[in-house]
Amino acid sequence: MIPLVDLKAQYHSIKDEIDSAISETLSDAQFVAGKSVTEFEIEFAQYSAAKYGIGVASGTAALHLILRACDIGPGDEVITTPFTFIATVEAIAILGAKPILVDIDPSNFNIDPNQVSSAISDRTKAIIPVHLYGQPADMKPLIEMSQRHGLNIIEDAAQSHGAEYEGMKTGSMGIAGCFSFYPAKNLGAYGDGGMVITSDYETNKKVRLLRDHGRSDKYTHLQIGFGERLDTIQAAILRVKLRHLNKWTEKRRSIAKLYNQLLDDTAVKTPSENTYSKHVYHQYVVRVPKRDNVIDILTEQRIGSGIHYPIPLHLQPALSYLGYQVGDLPHAELAAKEVMSLPIYPEMTESQVTIVSNVLHQALIL
Ligand SMILES: *Cc1c(COP(=O)(O)O)cnc(C)c1O
Repeated sequence: MIPLVDLKAQYHSIKDEIDSAISETLSDAQFVAGKSVTEFEIEFAQYSAAKYGIGVASGTAALHLILRACDIGPGDEVITTPFTFIATVEAIAILGAKPILVDIDPSNFNIDPNQVSSAISDRTKAIIPVHLYGQPADMKPLIEMSQRHGLNIIEDAAQSHGAEYEGMKTGSMGIAGCFSFYPAKNLGAYGDGGMVITSDYETNKKVRLLRDHGRSDKYTHLQIGFGERLDTIQAAILRVKLRHLNKWTEKRRSIAKLYNQLLDDTAVKTPSENTYSKHVYHQYVVRVPKRDNVIDILTEQRIGSGIHYPIPLHLQPALSYLGYQVGDLPHAELAAKEVMSLPIYPEMTESQVTIVSNVLHQALIL
């Protein structure tokens, strides 16, 4: 049995450190806004090359609160990709702004800067690139456009902890970066968690108020806000895991390299890493012919797999009000039909990678 991701293996590899971090938190009993939250905010912001980190309840909350802090609302347009988890677009829609979905670059599955350029209008307020699967979107042209048109770039870095674009950490290039610590992410909590990072002091202050009922002290509320804080216990766990993240990222990168070698010269199209990227392989995603067939054979051999994502967002029932049709964003639609994610996690062994590759070889013949 080789799962898509193995959270038990990771826990067992660091059990003592995690157990003692949890039991210290239990003894302290500062379950909300405890010292681990502040410490983790400082450490993760530093890790991601930003001045401030604001711990929040999830990646979804991070996106929602930063868009609110950027005053995005009815009448505004926000340009993003249709090929992402729905949370990216939910944050725009929930504020009453209009998501403008543009097609992806089929070579790396990320938003195509040329498509962004032609979608900018008088109403555009922000661009949300998503660093999908752990590979940075092409930021340079996006940053140039944002400066020319006075737009904010908000990076959805939920899948790209530690990834780099021309040496710059994802999340640090726009006005803010949003991270998720959902358990299966590259840096995952044991429950939900998220963070907004920014180097802009005012933005930091706004998000900090919004996540905690707009309060400046216990019973003074400067504005209406939300209860979207990061728990102390999750922060304590994340502090332990952050110390292991670089090592885990290198493991992911070497697993990807091995897959690339073992799947070379087959009908499987392996992921390409852009020259500007340090890809952190949140997912190892290939394109395969006859995908359903391949997935069935992997499943028979007790090998996990996934599809990220089978329906592009412009064709989701929840977003039908936007009026997109089949055929509007062809690269995203084709990717949704062809992609599949293979098992990848830092504890995966070389022999497991070899087994998955061998089964794939067989599946392609059958
Ligand atoms: C996971 C994810 C989110 C949402 O994060 P949660 O912590 O699950 O709320 C947002 N965007 C992308 C691209 C994600 O992968």
